[in-house]
Amino acid sequence: MSRFFSSKYAALEAYVPGEQPSDMSRYVKLNTNESPFPPSPKALEYAAANTRSLNLYSDPQSQLLTQAVAKTYGVDPDMVLVTNGSDEILNFAFMAFTDKKNPALFADITYGFYPVFAQLNDSPYETIPLRDDFSLCVDDYIGKKGTVFIANPNAPTGVALEVSEIERLVKSDPDRIVVVDEAYVDFGARSCVALTRKYRNLLVCQTFSKSRSFAGGRLGYGIGDPAIIADLNTIKYSTNPYNVNSMTSAMGIGILEDEEYTRTNCLKIIENRNYTVDALKRLGFKVLPSCANFIFVSSDSIEGGELYRRLKEKGVLVRHFTKERISNWCRVSIGSRESMEIFIEKVMEILKA
Ligand code: PMP
Repeated sequence: MSRFFSSKYAALEAYVPGEQPSDMSRYVKLNTNESPFPPSPKALEYAAANTRSLNLYSDPQSQLLTQAVAKTYGVDPDMVLVTNGSDEILNFAFMAFTDKKNPALFADITYGFYPVFAQLNDSPYETIPLRDDFSLCVDDYIGKKGTVFIANPNAPTGVALEVSEIERLVKSDPDRIVVVDEAYVDFGARSCVALTRKYRNLLVCQTFSKSRSFAGGRLGYGIGDPAIIADLNTIKYSTNPYNVNSMTSAMGIGILEDEEYTRTNCLKIIENRNYTVDALKRLGFKVLPSCANFIFVSSDSIEGGELYRRLKEKGVLVRHFTKERISNWCRVSIGSRESMEIFIEKVMEILKA
């Protein structure tokens, strides 16, 4: 830290993303929940058509993309805000809807960026333990004061909540906002987007990074009541009005015009997830029920950190978290069938050694 760094941030512990090794071709990369498939060909076509206008700023309202997202989800465009990845809409939500009077409430085991966003924005937060089986019980949040952040499906567990449970939480207190982070919803969970037309205190965040194979494009969005979106726009125009670049916007529209491609890829991931879960269970692993493009696994035969290190030595990258409650677990992204076969083969070699 330099002597110039603001004392506001002196204690900030920055988010640590999964490794992105420079010699990527050496690894089967199953550590950051990326899609193994390229973005839709339609996105590539639209990107090429857009390069000439890169001398101009992007449309600060991203109108065409916003309309395309709204059409996809059957909501009005004033219920949508597109952002630079869903990390940005989540940060905006912490900025807009948490403060000393409205602390952030989220699970003890969930997306590691939430406590960072809270610290960054000087908002207090409380973590609420998941149950022993890593499920989230909404009763643990009902009656507590604060803005709730729920990843559904949760990360890094992959466990999903019923929409009816989230609705019970949203309904229980119309005076506080519930933010549902649906980064992984397309791999088998049910979305809460339809509830945004019914409740004024719900914000649903989604991303193009996972099911739409566009992590590098950095595109996310939030859907909620127009008043909530207006607040988030105030934050956006006060930080970065051109938050979504024009190339990404154009590609996003192409991706939304090719929903069939997205659906087909999600089905392939679910198939590969089923294959991997079956193989790991046969090897004696515990695997949490996953509705995401990753699985959370542990074994009595090998400690989580050790499995991560041994797999890395063998050219397979998975994610291990040192947090005590989950230190015996690894999160494994679901990639192509070939990648998952290599992963299983390496796990078998490690268990035999
Ligand atoms: N939410 C969750 C639960 C995530 O795991 C991630 C990916 N790291 C994100 C949001 C953010 O993804 P992106 O910024 O790529 O949209």
